[in-house]
Amino acid sequence: MKPLARLCSRVLDIAYPRICRHCHRPIERELQATALCAACSRLCVLDMSTQLLDPLWVTSLYTYKSPLLSLLKSWKYSRDMQALQTLTWYWRKGIVSMPDEYFAGAVVTWVPMHFSKYLYRGFNSARQLALDVPGEKRTLLWRYLPGFSQAGKGRKDRLATAGFAIVPKKYNVQKVVLVDDIVTTGATLRACAVALLPKTGGNVRAVTLLRADSL
Ligand SMILES: [Zn+2]
Repeated sequence: MKPLARLCSRVLDIAYPRICRHCHRPIERELQATALCAACSRLCVLDMSTQLLDPLWVTSLYTYKSPLLSLLKSWKYSRDMQALQTLTWYWRKGIVSMPDEYFAGAVVTWVPMHFSKYLYRGFNSARQLALDVPGEKRTLLWRYLPGFSQAGKGRKDRLATAGFAIVPKKYNVQKVVLVDDIVTTGATLRACAVALLPKTGGNVRAVTLLRADSL
């Protein structure tokens, strides 16, 4: 870095210290390229877990309690691009740690957003994450309901009313990897998998950045 640029960067650091998105303490100078302080970075440990959420297998890379949740919120709700950059680093680290056969021959798709939410937010975080997953990326699902209340409904009804439809395509896909940012109850991923069943013969698996501890 040139001396003048270094001086400007130093003045900006003093005037506007970068704040850790998780604990809100200033970030150490040597970590200025990240959105987390050293203590919070140490908490972001890869903790891969695969579970069956019938009818699909879901692999999640980090727990909900990790500081990555703060990064995800900063990116999704405040369009914090430095948070996205740091989050992407951890996401890629998790994806390359997964077995190659998980993605072999698969078409990669993502949990879709209703267009009204997309217009409001301007991007779909699941789609952004999917771009870093190996394999051919395709829009396979469409969400035709903006939201749905699942209170008091049985499992069958929840799946039937989730509001997902497959985009009509001439080709068939043999295997699909579905991407989302968080898995909580798994109801959304299950609904997507059910919508994809006629096309894939049930060969759908999912990968998410975070998982809720209750799973
Ligand atoms: Zn911190």
